[in-house]
Amino acid sequence: MSSVIIQKRWESLERPGLTRAFSLRVHSSSGGEGLKRVCSAPQLGDQDKGSLLKRKLSVSDTEPCVVSSGSSKYKKGSKQQNTKSKTSRNVPKNLLDPNDLECSLCMRLFYEPVTAPCGHTFCKNCLERCLDHTPQCPLCKESLKEYLACRKYMVTTVLDTLIKQYLSQEYAERTKTHLEETRELSDLTKNVPIFVCTMAYPTVPCPLHVFEPRYRLMIRRCMDTGTRQFGMCISDSQKGFVDYGCMLIIRSVHFLPDGRSVVDTIGGKRFRVLSRGMKDGYSTADIEHLEDSRVEDSNELERLQELHDAVYEQARVWFQNLKVHFHNQILLHFGPMPDREADIQATPNGPACCWWLLAVLPIDPRYQLSVLSMTSLKERLVKIQQILTYLQSIPNN
Ligand SMILES: [Zn+2]
Ligand SMILES: [Zn+2]
Repeated sequence: MSSVIIQKRWESLERPGLTRAFSLRVHSSSGGEGLKRVCSAPQLGDQDKGSLLKRKLSVSDTEPCVVSSGSSKYKKGSKQQNTKSKTSRNVPKNLLDPNDLECSLCMRLFYEPVTAPCGHTFCKNCLERCLDHTPQCPLCKESLKEYLACRKYMVTTVLDTLIKQYLSQEYAERTKTHLEETRELSDLTKNVPIFVCTMAYPTVPCPLHVFEPRYRLMIRRCMDTGTRQFGMCISDSQKGFVDYGCMLIIRSVHFLPDGRSVVDTIGGKRFRVLSRGMKDGYSTADIEHLEDSRVEDSNELERLQELHDAVYEQARVWFQNLKVHFHNQILLHFGPMPDREADIQATPNGPACCWWLLAVLPIDPRYQLSVLSMTSLKERLVKIQQILTYLQSIPNN
């Protein structure tokens, strides 16, 4: 029975469509935080909250533990039991029921079991997912605000050891599943996590303020798997998100005491979306990377270089003549204009100045997107040239 309730609970935690991300353009904030804000609402249904099976483990990492036969309770070893610890450590296998070492959230054998201050134990990943939504124990509702703030989810050694020692086969299977799941999450072209929020560009920093539960999970997975990457796309009313985006590489994550985080990222490869999917409430996509087509002909390359130099100079003048207020805001959020590059075809994304300009120029995201998707440096430079010429034609720009 508890399994049904808990399954329902997971559905309610991660049901897609209940939360919506939106972003505020950073230019408008006078506070100058420069963070794209993602809005969210708590997901827990009240009817689910109180109805979970209560199972409390009162174990401590430091004290020895004795398993009482067939029951789901663990008692701290008394002095009497300690004196014959050699015999009590050899627990007959038939007295140990794997179900007693099952996480009440995922209904599987504990993996990296952590015990909250209230005494309830869960898999580390499972508890973290609950805390994404609300800083309470999912079973007894005790506040876990401080526990979350510390972020020290120490594995409960006694349980971990017990599992490894007495349920080695089950543990091996559980580990295998865990590794398979991690591998699936690590693929950088298949089922790539997609953050639907704002435009991102190669080489351009993109600081994010993450507080929506599904994106907390996404960012944590990017860190746990070691990929430290996810795709960024803007939303699309029909498809959910648009056909082109840019990978963001996580440079650092700063967790706030309430579980929100400030994630510092920088743009990586551009991509085209081949197909869309969902994973635990966030979007995913199969993607292919976009690369500029190389110009090999020397005459053509010479003309491209000239065009690039002209656009670079035009952009430099435009940026220098911007009102101090705008100039400083751009410096604060996107850094200085990148230097002129010696080889404009050095990377498959072309020179960084194009992306910096695209990020700072006051143009519609749809227009920015069309330039992002181009694989011809020449076309990209021409578009940027047109925008700059237009902006410079407006008096008092
Ligand atoms: Zn679990
Ligand atoms: Zn609890």
